[in-house]
Amino acid sequence: MDSNRICYLCEVYKEASDPKLKEQIKLLISRLPKKERVEEGELASRLDTCSLCENLADNNTCRACGCFIELRAAKTGTHCPHKKW
Ligand code: SF4
Repeated sequence: MDSNRICYLCEVYKEASDPKLKEQIKLLISRLPKKERVEEGELASRLDTCSLCENLADNNTCRACGCFIELRAAKTGTHCPHKKW
């Protein structure tokens, strides 16, 4: 996986202030159609894994894919670039 890969959508929200960023991420997740959103248990499991990962950056992005982990982990059909979930 290319460690310089950047998610365009995530880049946009990186520029937002912290409270606004959290709000925007929550909003984006809430707007996902139900069939595109993972179950709560799966989401918690994915985020637990990320929280212990050496690729997790301070701003809650993944150094391997450039995504905000909350967004990536919330979607069905996504995967960890290092196959941890
Ligand atoms: S998506 Fe994978 S590589 Fe990235 S922080 Fe989470 S567990 Fe680590």
